[in-house]
Amino acid sequence: MQIIDGKATADEIKKEIALEVQEIKASGGKIPHLVAILVGNNGASETYVANKVKSCEEVGFHSTLLRFEPTITEDELLLEVRKVNDNDDMDGLIVQLPLPDHINPDKVMEAINYKKDVDGFHPINIGRMAKGLPAYISATPQGILDLLERYNIETSGKHCVVVGRSQIVGLPMSILMQRNTKIGNCTVTLTHSKTKDLSAVCATADILIAALGRPEFITAEYVKEGAVVIDVGLTRIIDTSKKSGFALKGDVKFDEVAPKCSFITPVPKGVGPMTIVSLMKNTLLSAKGIIYAK
Ligand code: NAP
Repeated sequence: MQIIDGKATADEIKKEIALEVQEIKASGGKIPHLVAILVGNNGASETYVANKVKSCEEVGFHSTLLRFEPTITEDELLLEVRKVNDNDDMDGLIVQLPLPDHINPDKVMEAINYKKDVDGFHPINIGRMAKGLPAYISATPQGILDLLERYNIETSGKHCVVVGRSQIVGLPMSILMQRNTKIGNCTVTLTHSKTKDLSAVCATADILIAALGRPEFITAEYVKEGAVVIDVGLTRIIDTSKKSGFALKGDVKFDEVAPKCSFITPVPKGVGPMTIVSLMKNTLLSAKGIIYAK
């Protein structure tokens, strides 16, 4: 069994990006600039956004954090999004979810210029990804593809079971794993809360991707001997023994599942750090005008 070290892989990719930024600087090119919008004071969102901004600084990007009160109206937020769309210095825009209940997240995602949608949530990017056209791919699925590639994990002809059909992880992951690409060519089963006999379905997976948000839900009976298990889940559990007051739990019961796997991602330091790095990669692509011409 090999543990897939998402932290080490992410650090490696960050170094590659930082080197490229140095070269861009030296040649007087455009320094990538990521903008993050944060509405309200959700503790988890604060942490995620802070990590994204910190990572930008580490690789030499410019970053801007735009914070708004939870009382901001939908129209006011849409106006702020359009301001970023119109600012040529800003290459990428992410709006941290969840948004307050009175704001429709789909409306906000659609308002983002798809050429700056480095989270890959805009319907145009999702549609282009499904068609196999150049597009920004959602950060978490892109991070998982990179892990599979860097660990030389064979995917062609394998049965991949994805648990969870969210717009940001499960659904794009299922589309990506069936594409006719180097990391792809799987036979994919996409499962969700209405799937019957989920444990039996999962136990047929060569590659099991758990993205359901239920801590330690995937136990040994869900996993075939020798499977590759990717744990996307990230749930905060109160833990008074920790300085922060909470611990992070994945969707997989690591201790009992790991011995059955050929490869497994831990939580933390698995998929999480790769998500941020994918955002950086997309922002760099945007600044360089690679996916969409400037
Ligand atoms: P989500 O929007 O919370 O949706 C959860 C999905 O799981 C839904 O499709 C739901 O089915 C399915 N599901 C829930 N309970 C289930 C059950 N008992 N059996 C089978 N399917 C079940 O999902 P998400 O936003 O993708 O988040 C999933 C997890 O990944 C969360 O823990 C989140 O924090 C984490 N996450 C981590 C990262 C990272 O960087 N590591 C990034 C994004 C998300 P229905 O559609 O039928 O309701």
